[in-house]
Amino acid sequence: MIYADDFPMDPKRRVKVCPYCGNTNFPNQTPDCPACGHSRRNLCLGKSGSLHENDGNARYCAVCGNKTRFFADGLLKAWDTGDASSSVSAKEELPF
Ligand SMILES: [Zn+2]
Ligand SMILES: [Zn+2]
Repeated sequence: MIYADDFPMDPKRRVKVCPYCGNTNFPNQTPDCPACGHSRRNLCLGKSGSLHENDGNARYCAVCGNKTRFFADGLLKAWDTGDASSSVSAKEELPF
């Protein structure tokens, strides 16, 4: 299992490196990983038919607020785990 704070995505919001298996070979811009079959998109877990694409670091959907697939699958750490307290306070102090 890979733990990270972010998964870089291409302009189509598809991960450049599969967070599930580490594959980087995606012929024909396929929306799913050809190696493990997982989606390369960080979709939310909203009701079927209303799934939204989110950024690679999104834990919750920016549109509907439901958990994202990457967060639900444990690929993204929750904000309140580990040493997040220090990093969170640092982020809140940023001017933007
Ligand atoms: Zn994969
Ligand atoms: Zn959503």
